[in-house]
Amino acid sequence: MNDCVFCNIDKSRIEIENDLALSFKDLYPVTEGHTLVIPKRRVQSFFELNSNEKKAMFELLESQKQDLQNKDKLITGFNIGINDGQDAGQTVMHCHIHLIPRRKGDMKDPRGGVRGVIPGKQSY
Ligand code: 5GP
Repeated sequence: MNDCVFCNIDKSRIEIENDLALSFKDLYPVTEGHTLVIPKRRVQSFFELNSNEKKAMFELLESQKQDLQNKDKLITGFNIGINDGQDAGQTVMHCHIHLIPRRKGDMKDPRGGVRGVIPGKQSY
């Protein structure tokens, strides 16, 4: 047992899992349906994952994407992202992929998407 919030996620919150990865809803969602995909093994960085773990996570990412769109036809896009390292904005030090559903008109000008990690650089 360690004190990592993702290692200790309540089993009832798990959306989908396979041998090496699992997914659950973000507690503070950016948009409705915001989902996190994590490896079961706790590593901080995406670059510490082995190829089986990456494959397992990408499988869940696809399943979750499909599931979210099946449930909500207003979802017309996604932002998929990893904050890798504190200087890149990571706050929970257990690697995770953010899957953030987007809907037409959910912000005034979505152009540039994840480029918005540096304010002022989103649009080009
Ligand atoms: P990071 O900033 O590390 O990329 O993202 C951490 C994410 O974890 C945030 O989007 C935050 O809302 C989410 N989060 C933080 N604590 C919890 C928690 O206890 N449960 C869940 N489900 N999500 C959490």
